[in-house]
Amino acid sequence: MSAQPTLSSGDRTTKTEIRFHNTMSGQTEPFVPLVAGEVRAYTCGPTVYDFAHIGNFRTFVFQDVLRRYLKSKGFRVIQVMNLTDVDDRIIQKSAAAGVSIREYTDKYIQAYLDDRRALNLEPPEHIARATEHIDDMVKLIQRLTEKGFTYTSEGSTYYRIANFPGYGKLSKIDVAGMQTGARVDTDRYDKDNARDFALWKAPKPGEHFWETPIGPGRPGWHIECAAMALKYLGDKLDIHSGGVDLTFPHHENEIAEAEAATGKTFARYWLHAEFLLVDHEKMSKSMGNFATLRELFSHGHKPSSIRFLLASVPYRRQLNFTPESLQGAASSVERLRNFATRLRAEKFLEGSSPAIAERAAKARDEFDRGLADDLNTAQALAAIFDLVRDVNTAMDRGEFRQGDAAPVLKVLELFDAIFAVLRDDDAEKLKELGISASGPTLSGPEVEAIVAERQAARKRRDFAASDRIRDDLAARGIILEDSRDGAVRWKRK
Ligand code: AMP
Ligand code: ZN
Repeated sequence: MSAQPTLSSGDRTTKTEIRFHNTMSGQTEPFVPLVAGEVRAYTCGPTVYDFAHIGNFRTFVFQDVLRRYLKSKGFRVIQVMNLTDVDDRIIQKSAAAGVSIREYTDKYIQAYLDDRRALNLEPPEHIARATEHIDDMVKLIQRLTEKGFTYTSEGSTYYRIANFPGYGKLSKIDVAGMQTGARVDTDRYDKDNARDFALWKAPKPGEHFWETPIGPGRPGWHIECAAMALKYLGDKLDIHSGGVDLTFPHHENEIAEAEAATGKTFARYWLHAEFLLVDHEKMSKSMGNFATLRELFSHGHKPSSIRFLLASVPYRRQLNFTPESLQGAASSVERLRNFATRLRAEKFLEGSSPAIAERAAKARDEFDRGLADDLNTAQALAAIFDLVRDVNTAMDRGEFRQGDAAPVLKVLELFDAIFAVLRDDDAEKLKELGISASGPTLSGPEVEAIVAERQAARKRRDFAASDRIRDDLAARGIILEDSRDGAVRWKRK
C-alpha cells in the first residue's frame, strides 16, 4: 500500500489562515500566537463541588477540540487548567458532610478526571488546584496593593475597579452606571450588579481559612485563575477560554487583576463557548435540568456519542440537547466506524485510482478550511460525511482499488486527531467507570431503527457492520432472525 499515492505530508493545508472569534474585539481575527509555533492557553476548569454536567462538558469538549486542532497544525500547546477547589458552595457542602474541603473535593476531582478520560479529553500540561496556590494568590494581591488597586474592609481585601480604566473592555459592561466602592464578596453575581469584588475573604465563624501575610481567610474565585495563569504561562497568554457565562464577571475581573499587576495585555484571544440548553434553557445545576455523564452512560449512551454530539455543533452556536440528538450522534459515529472498518478490512482490486486520491485531498482541504474558520466543526464534519458517501458509492460500484484505502484512511486519521471517536472502546471505558455497558431496554421503534440500519449495511454488502449490529443487539437482549425472503424478525431474549 505504501507505494500507492498518499497525500503529501508537506501538508497542503498549513497555509490556511486560522481565524478565531475574539470576544475582546468582537471580531473573527487571524490567529497569530506571541511566539511562533507555540500556544499558551488558559482554560477555566470546573468548580469541584459536585459532578460536572454535560453543559460543562460542552465547554470542556470545545477546549479539547481547540487544543487538538492547534496541535494538528503543528503548534506546541501549553495548556493550563484550574480546579476551583475552594468556594462558598464547597465550604458549605463539605461542612454539611462533616469532611475537610480536601476530602470533599478529592472525590469530585477524581470523578471529573475520569469523565474527561471517558470523553477522550487530552490532559492539559498543567492542572492547577487552587488550594495548592494560595501563596501565589497572596503575592498577586500584595502586588495589587502596592500599586494602589485594593482596599480592605472588615478583614477582606477588595479590588477597586474605579482605579482600572480598562474595566469592562471584555464584556462591554457599562461601568459608568456602576456604584464605585460598593462591595460584593460572592464570586458569581448578576450582570447588572458590577461592584468592587473580593480578592481575599475574611473567614466567617467556623469556616476553613488560611493564615497568610494579608490576614486569615481564603481567596476569591477570580484571583485563583489570574494567579495560576501568570504563574504557569507568564504575563502574556495567547488564548483564554471558558463558557460564555464566564465573560462577566470572572474574565473581566481576571483581566483587571492581571493587567493591573503586570501592566501588560493579559490574553490576546478570548474564546467563549455558547451554552448547552435543555428545552431552550441553559443547562445548570441551579435550574435542576442537568444530566451528568454518568447518568447518560447508565442509560445506555456511549461516551463517543456524547463527545461527538458536543463537538459537532460549532462552539459559538447554542446546542439544544435532546435524546434524539444523542441517537443521531451515535449513528454518525457508527457510520464512521463502519466506514473505517470497511477501508481496513475489505479486499479491493489491486491498483489505485487518481480520482479517489483527489477526492480525499478535497475532503481534507474542506475539513481543514472548516476548522480554520473559527472551529466550524459542522463544516468540517460535512466534508467527512460527503467523503464517506462518495467513497462508499465508489466501493459499491467496484471503482475503488486497494491503493485508494491509504489516502482515505489518512483523512480519517486527521479527522480523528480532532474528533477522537473512531476507536471502538466505549464498552471498555464504561467498564473502567464501573458502569454496565448494556444500557436500558430498547423500545420497539428503537429496535426497528437499528434493524433498518443493519439492513442497509447488508444491502451495501458491509457484512462486518451488519454482524456488529447483530452482536450489539444481542448484547442488549434482542435476537434477530433472518428469513429467506430477506425480511428480518426480532424478539427479546
Ligand atoms: P463551573 O464548574 O460552574 O465553574 O463551570 C465550568 C465550565 O462550564 C465553565 O467554563 C462554564 O462557563 C461552563 N458551563 C456551565 N454551564 C454550561 C452550559 N449549560 N453550557 C456550556 N457551558 C457551560
Ligand atoms: Zn477561571
